[in-house]
Amino acid sequence: MNYSVVKAKWQLKLELRFFQLRKLFPAIQILMLLSLVALLVLPLFGPYPRFQWQTPWNNGQLFSEWVLWGFWYPGTLLSVLFVGRLWCGALCPLGALSEWVSRIGGRLNPPNWIKHPIAPAFSFLIVTVWAQTLDVRDDLRSALLLFAIIFALAVACGLAFGSGRGVARRVWCRHLCPIGSVLGVFSRIGVMSIDPANKEKVEEGYRDHGLCPTSIELRSKQSSRHCIKCARCIKPNARGGLSLTLRAPASEIEYIDRHSPCSSELAFIWFAPGLAIAGFIWSSSPLYAQFRQALGEWAMNHQWMGMFSQGPAWLMNQNAAIDQHYLWLDFVSISLFMLGFAALMALILFALSLAGAALLKNDVRTSWIHRLTTFGYQFSPLAMLCILLGLGSTLISSLHQWIGHQVMVDIELSFVVVALTFNLLIAFRWVAKNHKSCWRRILSSGVITLGCFFISTVTLWSIFPSYQLF
Ligand code: SF4
Ligand code: SF4
Repeated sequence: MNYSVVKAKWQLKLELRFFQLRKLFPAIQILMLLSLVALLVLPLFGPYPRFQWQTPWNNGQLFSEWVLWGFWYPGTLLSVLFVGRLWCGALCPLGALSEWVSRIGGRLNPPNWIKHPIAPAFSFLIVTVWAQTLDVRDDLRSALLLFAIIFALAVACGLAFGSGRGVARRVWCRHLCPIGSVLGVFSRIGVMSIDPANKEKVEEGYRDHGLCPTSIELRSKQSSRHCIKCARCIKPNARGGLSLTLRAPASEIEYIDRHSPCSSELAFIWFAPGLAIAGFIWSSSPLYAQFRQALGEWAMNHQWMGMFSQGPAWLMNQNAAIDQHYLWLDFVSISLFMLGFAALMALILFALSLAGAALLKNDVRTSWIHRLTTFGYQFSPLAMLCILLGLGSTLISSLHQWIGHQVMVDIELSFVVVALTFNLLIAFRWVAKNHKSCWRRILSSGVITLGCFFISTVTLWSIFPSYQLF
């Protein structure tokens, strides 16, 4: 039998299953919402974890913290590599709640600043720093506070910008969700996609009040970053509609020109790895301790005594149970340390991408910004590993305890080597396609190799946080 026929049948079967699964999405989302509320609220009626002998298996709060940050969050990120943003479409209680209320919501149009493509990256930046100053990973009350505020914003967004005609709309998920950008870039690397049968050769469009809840103009859909795999546009056995496809990992990066590259998303790819890694290592890094000390001395010398007073509990951790009270000094030093490290890393990746764009000038006759953007995307697989290790720190720390420190370090190092090799392979293929001249191909590959080794070195910092990089 012809291979393409076998593949088509197999693909159709998968698509049909996916389509049938759609009916179960609301029930799954309700279950997820109840589970999240139970995880965040019930353990607060139990004892606070104060002692070394308390573990996730004998203390409710530690159990909830582990499920949320060690399983739920990294599991969500990893799942995108295999099934795209199915988490968003089928499981996420936050997105579901925002969508449900949007059916009865007002018909306001989101203002342009919300619709700007950089908005989700800013949301990620604010919430990632805020989560650290609140210490959400080690204090369930702070986690509850952060989730409550984010849920309130998502519901308000659904109510204000809903369709009001019983049609689902996810303005929050498209424009403001703090992890929407991460999931979007991960889904570009993922193997599952939903594509139009006949793609229009135009820019990917934006359409409010259409069938797609995240406002994708379906006929022109080119990328998977905003697709939450809700399956609304799939019509198995019909000539129209979109269909589910499986593809090689990171094929959207290798052929980024055809998949709606976006300079705002690229800014996120440069900035987010540094933020995630700094968020992971600050508490155990001697560099952070020195920075805080220097900032404290500077404040003392300049009589900025307000820096040594406690700040509000909604902004920084105030945990009376273990007598942990963050000062403004902690808030400022954590924020500056994370933002400064992220900016430094972004600057280096920007400079390398600029060099790459200059090399592309004679071979690809497009604008500077386009060349810069397409070159910059070539660092994204490794950048994603960096983000994964940073945001999945609770899981990594737990695995260090369960599997053994040395074994886990070896596993992490293997991940870095595999991701580095994979990233170089994808990027070199992209270079070969875009450069005609041999020497520019070699120089371009050199710039990419330099960038990849740089990201790998930063990633190593998350594995050995007490090492001094500088
Ligand atoms: S974009 Fe954010 S809020 Fe929306 S479904 Fe995905 S994770 Fe949930
Ligand atoms: S493209 Fe289709 S599957 Fe993806 S979010 Fe839009 S309607 Fe849902």
